[in-house]
Amino acid sequence: MSIFQKAKEGLRKFMIGRRGADELSLALLITSLALSMLTTITRIGLFYLVGLVAYGLSLFRMFSRNIEKRYAENMKFLGVWRKARSSVKQFVNRLKNMRKYKYFKCPECHSRLRLPRKVGEVTVTCGKCRHAFKQRA
Ligand SMILES: [Zn+2]
Repeated sequence: MSIFQKAKEGLRKFMIGRRGADELSLALLITSLALSMLTTITRIGLFYLVGLVAYGLSLFRMFSRNIEKRYAENMKFLGVWRKARSSVKQFVNRLKNMRKYKYFKCPECHSRLRLPRKVGEVTVTCGKCRHAFKQRA
């Protein structure tokens, strides 16, 4: 058995019962890298400290044997991440279509609605709560 095979086998044995890298661990790792670059640029020690904590947390999560708890943390993170990504996507989409549509919120349920521009004043019925109101676009 070569030294590489021994090292590989040793690592495999070490990782038994551990989850390894998941999305949250990778996000923490990327955050720590970004903060270390920011430290180099700005020379602000706080970024370095926060980056170090993120790096430590990332390593702790990868090698933790409490898989259930790490899984639950990862699921929570993914929920927040998807929500944030969806909000950014919707915002970019609204910016892209600002000339074609007028965006507004339903006065009852605050869900976001849109109308093609230059339709004048029309009666809008909210698709979510069925509230009807007049809107100019
Ligand atoms: Zn509504």
